[in-house]
Amino acid sequence: MSNDSTYAAVPFDHAKADIILRSSDNIDFRIFKLFLSLASPFFETLFEIPQPAEEDEDQEVKDGLVVVPVTEDSKTLDALLRFCYPCTLAEDPKLEVLKDALDVLEAARKYSLDVIEKKARQAIASPKILEAEPLRCFAIAHRGRLQEESQLAARYTLTQPLIPSWFQEIDLITATDLLSLLTYHKKCADVVYALRLDLSWITSHYGSPQACSWLSGQYINQYGSGTQCGCPRSSTPKYRLSLLGSVSLQWWEDFMEETFTALRDKPCKETVQTTADKTVQTVKARNCQNCSFKVTEGMRDFLELFTRKIDESISQIEVELNF
Ligand SMILES: [Zn+2]
Repeated sequence: MSNDSTYAAVPFDHAKADIILRSSDNIDFRIFKLFLSLASPFFETLFEIPQPAEEDEDQEVKDGLVVVPVTEDSKTLDALLRFCYPCTLAEDPKLEVLKDALDVLEAARKYSLDVIEKKARQAIASPKILEAEPLRCFAIAHRGRLQEESQLAARYTLTQPLIPSWFQEIDLITATDLLSLLTYHKKCADVVYALRLDLSWITSHYGSPQACSWLSGQYINQYGSGTQCGCPRSSTPKYRLSLLGSVSLQWWEDFMEETFTALRDKPCKETVQTTADKTVQTVKARNCQNCSFKVTEGMRDFLELFTRKIDESISQIEVELNF
């Protein structure tokens, strides 16, 4: 069997190494016991066991070194060893592939490599991956029994439609887990959608008509008197702000209606950001004396408020998971 195995690449082919770890796919890593012993008590104990005599037929010896077979494949073992080695010999591997990070996490736990476990956790829940692939992150984090990271990933899945499309690693979680995630998403959508029922969070933020003059449909003309802008008013306002009297601009109504409809599917700040950007473009194109000049700044401030309210509402909800 040893004839089928090949040596790993630099630095795991060192001539002065003192033991061989053989991966499940038959790659022999010539390594120094000291680096592994320092990284983990597991290895320290393993290497303390007296080496069997050379004539022991059960113990394989290759090029004078004892061969210890491990269950990890060469890719995982390579990453694990690079973490254990000093940085002058091997840089920490970049765990950019989610599945690799999970394999390293599981191996690190098995060998009590606490620092490496922490690094694998960080790789699984890095903001870049969470933003790009929250569902895959969730599946990996849950499979890795990472409670905090699973909650965090669940939060990021709110940027995706309620019913997600197929994703890699979906098979790592059970139907029960997926149901928990969908239930969480639905609950978040419900609390955020409920914000439209009572708009006091908007009126109390502004406090006076002057503070939300960008929504008033009025501007001061060249003679110094208040003038109605030309933008259409809604005849059936649903999002009228009490402090602005009976007026509600149609573009505001359209913005709010579109936003809340979209929030039912994706209850997150990105949804509001998208509809707000679109509305700013539309309103600026109107060339209105009031709205077009004030909408950019007004919407920026409102977006902050809306984002805060969404965060507040959602933070009360947790995804229920069994680990
Ligand atoms: Zn206007």
